[in-house]
Amino acid sequence: DLKAADTPKQSSKQLHVDSKWSDTTPFASKKKLQSWFQLPDGNWELGTTLQTFGNESLISLADEKVLRVNSETLVPANPDILDGVDDLMQLSYLNEPSVLYNLQYRYNRDMIYTKAGPVLVAINPFKKVSLYGNDFVEAYKRKSLDSPHVYAITDTAMREMIRDEVNQSIIISGESGAGKTETAKIAMQYLAALGGGSGIEKEILKTNPILEAFGNAKTLRNDNSSRFGKLIEIHFSETGKISGAKIQTLVQLRSFALRHKRFRQRVLVNSPELFNVQREKGHIIFFISSVPELQHSLEEALDIVHVKKEDQESVFAMLAAVLWLGNVSFTVVDSENHVEPVVDEGLTNVATLIGCNIEELKLALSSRKMRVGKRNDTIIQKLTLAQAIDTRDALAKSIYSCLFDWLVEQINKSLAVGKRRTGRSISILDIYGFESFERNSFEQFCINYANERLQQHFNRHLFKLEQEEYIQDGIDWAKVDFEDNQACLNLFEKKPLGLQSLLDEESTFPNGTDLSFANKLKQHLSSNPCFRGERGKAFTVCHYAGEVSYDTTGFLEKNRDLLHMDSIQLLSSCTCQLPQAFASSMLVQSEKPVVGALHKSGGADSQKLSVTTKFKGQLFQLMQRLENTTPHFIRCIKPNNFQSPGSYNQGLVLQQLRCCGVLEVVRISRSGFPTRMSHQKFARRYGFLLLDHVASQDPLSVSVAILHQFNILPEMYQVGYTKLFFRTGQIGVLEDTRNRT
Ligand code: ATP
Ligand code: MG
Repeated sequence: DLKAADTPKQSSKQLHVDSKWSDTTPFASKKKLQSWFQLPDGNWELGTTLQTFGNESLISLADEKVLRVNSETLVPANPDILDGVDDLMQLSYLNEPSVLYNLQYRYNRDMIYTKAGPVLVAINPFKKVSLYGNDFVEAYKRKSLDSPHVYAITDTAMREMIRDEVNQSIIISGESGAGKTETAKIAMQYLAALGGGSGIEKEILKTNPILEAFGNAKTLRNDNSSRFGKLIEIHFSETGKISGAKIQTLVQLRSFALRHKRFRQRVLVNSPELFNVQREKGHIIFFISSVPELQHSLEEALDIVHVKKEDQESVFAMLAAVLWLGNVSFTVVDSENHVEPVVDEGLTNVATLIGCNIEELKLALSSRKMRVGKRNDTIIQKLTLAQAIDTRDALAKSIYSCLFDWLVEQINKSLAVGKRRTGRSISILDIYGFESFERNSFEQFCINYANERLQQHFNRHLFKLEQEEYIQDGIDWAKVDFEDNQACLNLFEKKPLGLQSLLDEESTFPNGTDLSFANKLKQHLSSNPCFRGERGKAFTVCHYAGEVSYDTTGFLEKNRDLLHMDSIQLLSSCTCQLPQAFASSMLVQSEKPVVGALHKSGGADSQKLSVTTKFKGQLFQLMQRLENTTPHFIRCIKPNNFQSPGSYNQGLVLQQLRCCGVLEVVRISRSGFPTRMSHQKFARRYGFLLLDHVASQDPLSVSVAILHQFNILPEMYQVGYTKLFFRTGQIGVLEDTRNRT
């Protein structure tokens, strides 16, 4: 009499989303009982129950050790025959250790992909695995291979786009270093192979190295970490050929200091000492020297996306200017700590590179024009050392981010979808994943907000829409609870008393500080269950993926991201085209509501949308584009924190699985009817396969006749008012027959 068998069986109607063991099917009846036992280090080990007495069990572990344990702590294991199934839906016991074991079993055999119902789980191998290339593409295309793969999910997207005439999206998420960008590239390669021919697919693939060169950075977690979010919409013609693409990016979130070696290395396109600026006969020659292949491949990529040679030169000039700006230093000229830039190689190079007058550059870096008094008189205020350094860095950052946006614009022009567009597209989203560190700052605040939105999209599609559709169509289907993160989104977005509004408000106050911001949050939001004020300048948010504490130090400055009018004017006075273009793009922005407008003493001191507002705006646009697509989800998982192959940390994997709700999705999919088709469509699609004549030709009668002919079991489908609903995998036999006929 096992105690565990007595625990009340969880109502199958109310599945737990808490991910505690809801799978408590009695297992006392099994002869030789295999179960999972949790070791003190948190890892799970497989044990065989030898004997039970009262609520205790005697189990033997792999090393022949025998332990006496509380039976309730044991979790049922699946029979060996289910080892390494390629869809977690097939597991008899769907508990956390079984899922972890199954993924690990596959991972150890280089099977890095596993389905979790409709979601593809991808575990980063951190090494080359032989799963890609032409042979594999062909095999998935011909369907001679059907094991889970990015190719398979991309293939499905492609087929559904054509079959349903609905745009598709592939949404890739996961922590930093989990493999999102690599996965996106693999999906793009498959699309290029299937839809290639016009040559534009080569251009599309070349956008990756360009955006990576300018938008990635080496971080603690990933040597090649994307610091921007990206949605690439790939368009197809009637014949299923790629006809163009459009890239939309989300604000670059990088906090770099130009003096820092890491940033310099990055700007040098991945490698130190790569970039050289040389003078020759009065011209400046830019080249990325020591690794010629890298220079060559970047230039080649720029050629392919039709960035003109002279524009390429301007791009490198801007990069060089950003670098040289980092070298500009100042000398204190009076007792009030006012400064002037040192006129040296750095300063003169910046002036030459952006094409401005050296005196104007000096002024812009060391003084600020202000309008004061009723008559709006202009006065010139000299900057202190700290102000001058901020001004210099803000200018460099602005040039850099404008450069990135400009490149995206050029790429989009080159990939522009022609007039003969069909409107059919597949979008691939690669967005920075949820981040929770020891110390979390403004960047994490933005990133986690974006993930909160994405999670809602995920929830909506897989849970809410699912249920609503069943109910609408009159299907008898027990409700399933699901985690709804609307409350957390409200905490961020609510006006006027949400995190973002309060941040923007505080950012416009001349005397606002990070501390006054933190205090305001505590004052207004303490009663919100998703919020908790912390000591000092910190606060905690309860995200869907766990609690994160944010330190507000630097929030206001990062959110304002000020660039002074003097700097913008300097750029617009430049003789070079790019800085001029940058200046006008900044001025366009400033016509919208701005932060910092009330900044010290009124004047035309500052401009720009706040970063939060800009970020939110871009995110909304992005979500809108996803809204009308059929989503396909890929969840990337990082198996260890060392970027090393062959190491699988159960705790780390589990935490990520919980974060992205993989287990819940499987539970719901198992009990639901994920495949659906309208009566009409079903009858039209498969009606011709009918062997016997059907008396009534109405779609429903035809559909039912098809179901009978193919012996689809009654528990495997439901007939709704407008649609037929099928359990996973049921429609396969119909499709196969149809394709063979
Ligand atoms: P971030 O959010 O920081 O941008 P990410 O999720 O985009 O991270 P990637 O840059 O895609 O992470 O992956 C990190 C590294 O993991 C890659 O540079 C590569 O070395 C390795 N990697 C990821 N996926 C694969 C794969 N399928 N095969 C081999 N290596 C991989
Ligand atoms: Mg990335």
